[in-house]
Amino acid sequence: MAVIVQKYGGTSVGTPERIRAVAQRIVAAKEEGHSLVAVVSAMGDVTDELVELAVQINPEPPEREMDMLLATGEQVSIALLAMAIHALGHEAISFTGPQVGIVTDHGHTKARILEVRADRVRDAIAEGRIVIVAGFQGMTADGHITTLGRGGSDTTAVAVAAGIGADVCEIYTDVDGVYTADPRVVPDARKIDVIGYEAMLELAAAGAAVLNLRSVEFARNHGVVIHCRSSFTEAPGTIVKEADESMEQAIISGVAHDTSEAKITIRDVPDRPGVAATVFTRMAEANVNVDMIIQNVSEAGMTDISFTTPKADLVRARKAAEVVVCELGAREWLVDESIAKVSLIGAGMKTHPGVAAQMFRALSQAGVNIDLISTSTIRITCVVAAQEAEAAVRALHSSFGLDDAEVTTEVVPACGDGE
Ligand code: ADP
Ligand code: ASP
Ligand code: MG
Repeated sequence: MAVIVQKYGGTSVGTPERIRAVAQRIVAAKEEGHSLVAVVSAMGDVTDELVELAVQINPEPPEREMDMLLATGEQVSIALLAMAIHALGHEAISFTGPQVGIVTDHGHTKARILEVRADRVRDAIAEGRIVIVAGFQGMTADGHITTLGRGGSDTTAVAVAAGIGADVCEIYTDVDGVYTADPRVVPDARKIDVIGYEAMLELAAAGAAVLNLRSVEFARNHGVVIHCRSSFTEAPGTIVKEADESMEQAIISGVAHDTSEAKITIRDVPDRPGVAATVFTRMAEANVNVDMIIQNVSEAGMTDISFTTPKADLVRARKAAEVVVCELGAREWLVDESIAKVSLIGAGMKTHPGVAAQMFRALSQAGVNIDLISTSTIRITCVVAAQEAEAAVRALHSSFGLDDAEVTTEVVPACGDGE
């Protein structure tokens, strides 16, 4: 009999009825003889509501107190889920992240898990109980409550699965697996049956929120197999595991988009050595994450430097930009919050020339203007206007033949099939 970790996202536990449905699913697996650990998110939009509440009190809330507040969301759902399981006649016990020994660093609001001391989980399983764990939260070695960054319950689930040596980590969500693009944006997107860690990491890093990036990193580093599937159906979802020869080697595995970043431009900085170092040192000192960077061609000894940064870091980034402009004698700094990153991901692009050209052509045919471009060996990302992001994703998805209908026509019938 297997040890199974199941994670349920906010929508899956969004109402009392849904919590009862989740309890039934957990109990059904338990009655088949498996040992069950369920990791749960806060109900529905509770985390967003808590963030809004905090900002009404203080536009720049201290991050330690933010974590204290946000961690309450998951504490509500674990207790309710344990109660729902008791109502079905089974023994369940709920634990917070700190109670199950999720030890993190001090990076409040985006803490990293350092260790999972899962003894309490193991002991409760050995006593035959169903264990319910609060996602998204942990505690520093010196006792401060932390959270793992938005979407962090996926990471808790994978970390607990690694900590107790579970056979599988099932991530239940509101879509039935990982698709070639967000199925809410591309109705013809295709469900991927099996995907390797590396391709999934790139998709997640590029904005495919269906699996949190750090959860995939953790799974790869600890060899945890993830099964990402729907909490509303019994259909099999997507298996995420180490790539092997049996897996389909798609040239392009998918298209992802991300509207969580903003673009900052420092105008008319002197074009001399050390300028970029100053800009990005000041950003790093202000704990601002920087993603894409572009420096324009210099004119009359002056240039513009643009970069993207998470909107969550913008308050700090604006202050740092102000300092940089004074320090370097630049003209001004500008922020554009209406941008989106649109990425094409695929391990095959390394060996297939022309992918970038086709991407830019598809965007131009869709009338989408490209602002910034960055590439890695298995990803090309373009920054476009936020309102054009969905059109851009659909154009790329169809241009690279990822639409469900087109892929089906390429399937070669097995011997004996057909007329
Ligand atoms: P949960 O609350 O269960 O963690 P999330 O909202 O974090 O759920 O993730 C699920 C959502 O991810 C889906 O509703 C879907 O809109 C979005 N999504 C983005 N990209 C993809 C993709 N490539 N495949 C599937 N879903 C995706
Ligand atoms: N409740 C947290 C969030 O909304 C964590 C999670 O759902 O994974 O980001
Ligand atoms: Mg999520």
